[in-house]
Amino acid sequence: MSQISLTFPDGNSRDYDAGITPAEVAASIATSLAKKAISATVNGAHWDLQWPITENASIAINTMKDRAPALELVRHDLAHIMARAVQEIWPDVKVTIGPVIEHGWYYDFDRKEPFTPEDLGAIEKKMKEIINARDTVRTEVWERNRALAHYRETGENYKVELVEAIPADQAIRMYWHGDWQDLCRGPHLQHTGQVPADAFKLMNVAGAYWRGDSKNAMLQRIYGVAFLNKEELKAHLHMLEEAAKRDHRKLGREMDLFHMQEEAPGQVFWHANGWSIYTTLQDYMRRQQRRDGYIEVNTPQVVDRKLWEASGHWDKYQENMFIVEVDEEHAREKAVNALKPMNCPCHVQVYNQGLKSYRDLPLRMAEFGACNRYEPSGALHGIMRVRGFTQDDAHIFCTEDQITSETAKFIAFLSKIYADLGFHNWTIKLSTRPEKRIGSDESWDIVEKALGDACQAAGYDYEVLEGEGAFYGPKLEFTLTDAIGRDWQCGTLQVDPNLPERLNAHYIGADGEKHRPFMLHRAVLGSFERFIGILIEEHAGKLPFWLAPRQVVVASIVSDADDYVHETVAALQAAGVRAESDTRNEKINYKIREHSVGKVPVILAVGAREVEERTVTVRRLGEKDTKVAPLDAVTQALSKEATPPDLL
Ligand SMILES: [Zn+2]
Ligand SMILES: [Zn+2]
Repeated sequence: MSQISLTFPDGNSRDYDAGITPAEVAASIATSLAKKAISATVNGAHWDLQWPITENASIAINTMKDRAPALELVRHDLAHIMARAVQEIWPDVKVTIGPVIEHGWYYDFDRKEPFTPEDLGAIEKKMKEIINARDTVRTEVWERNRALAHYRETGENYKVELVEAIPADQAIRMYWHGDWQDLCRGPHLQHTGQVPADAFKLMNVAGAYWRGDSKNAMLQRIYGVAFLNKEELKAHLHMLEEAAKRDHRKLGREMDLFHMQEEAPGQVFWHANGWSIYTTLQDYMRRQQRRDGYIEVNTPQVVDRKLWEASGHWDKYQENMFIVEVDEEHAREKAVNALKPMNCPCHVQVYNQGLKSYRDLPLRMAEFGACNRYEPSGALHGIMRVRGFTQDDAHIFCTEDQITSETAKFIAFLSKIYADLGFHNWTIKLSTRPEKRIGSDESWDIVEKALGDACQAAGYDYEVLEGEGAFYGPKLEFTLTDAIGRDWQCGTLQVDPNLPERLNAHYIGADGEKHRPFMLHRAVLGSFERFIGILIEEHAGKLPFWLAPRQVVVASIVSDADDYVHETVAALQAAGVRAESDTRNEKINYKIREHSVGKVPVILAVGAREVEERTVTVRRLGEKDTKVAPLDAVTQALSKEATPPDLL
């Protein structure tokens, strides 16, 4: 048998017979390692302990201490263990697919009766039995026909379809957890006992179409979460509880911010309170943009398909576009338009009006661009994932030489805005050239380096996402981490030499010749709708004072104080504070409770004593103690607090 050389993480190499498995390699090092091993990393690929290695390679044996492979395996093995448990309890249930997802896994089952919460409990119990049995996991590669025959015989029709869909040149691999078999690419753990029995939980059941197609059968998808130990699971469940408390849909109702209804799926009906947040944020963004040298434009909503054909969206993006056909007068054919799903092609139209010279660049063109995109109804989520939204969009037209300085300038701009909005924890990712791309390697080298240099110039580190860029250029993504540890990608900066080319944008250079500008597509918030959702959840409804829609409620304790209430409200409003009166004939505690649910940051209570002394009793949201202070001083302090951070 021929020999191969395996190189370990410490740089040492050893020769083995070709075809050796990582399990055997681990055993050759130490019995304890062979026991602890969960998988291997071979030439960077995640490798099952049972798969043979046939050529020289680098190898690392993974144990539960290697977090990423451990989590992947635990979640993936749990998918199999769950499917086995389901079929042991209900042998007639048909199994389909069960991938690993963020925090856990799911598996789709075909079963007539719905899974109940009690069923989930029974499945969980059975899964723990399987884990405790420490059943061996083994794998084999099968002939296609053998696999098809096996699944036809056992009536697993979904698996037949899956096998048929595997390309002829790919191996068909089977896995067994104990005696239970599943079609699977692997890798998997050594035995079921390697899964921590107390670090997973079945969460819920949802409907899902086979292969995501609504023409197919409706299946039942059971979701589970899994971690490496009990504490991590507990922390995750706690985070979910927190997230439920902060859910912007719930707070949106309680604070009377917005609603959504069937007649306009994925579009927001903003109520006065919500619109107040929206316009305050938009006014703030407009001031920032003006200061940073942007011009603001506004472009049409309904645009002829010709422009979308020229921009490439008609080809690449049509399924996400709302298309509108119109009988134009005196026309033989219907005019076909689309609601704009993005603003970029329209901005090039504005750019193309009038000849541009190199002296006009960089040209920073902003629009609070209202866009519509078709999203499947299942993907919609409150105001976070919608079909109608407004971006804080801008395009910077510039030369290649200006990319670094414009990007650095943008990062400084974005970091100030995030800080003003209370987000201090955010990261940058740089997505580089994908396999399928246009443009020369030299031009990619230049532009990727320009973005990296810009991050450094602005004083930030970045993570590289190899191959994740668009086919025409690299991009930066800016991801916020919120108060309960969730990540939200909000800002972007995408370098684009392609659209100016397609839509024939140019400028006259210092040499008197025509040149193509680059376009930088960039956004800070992303969309106002989603960002406001994030803000609400980040602050659990207790928005920074300057953004709060109802900043102050002045509430009477006795009706004799009504005049003074109105006087106080007028004084606050004159000082730029959003103040309201509450002179209803209700107990003060009732009023306080109601406005606290509505997340009003400050309640000023006034009774006979306050009238006489010209004071107010100040009660801050979430604080037990109150404070009596002169009206003038309180008005002055609240006026300052109500001022947006950039105007202080
Ligand atoms: Zn699998
Ligand atoms: Zn754009």
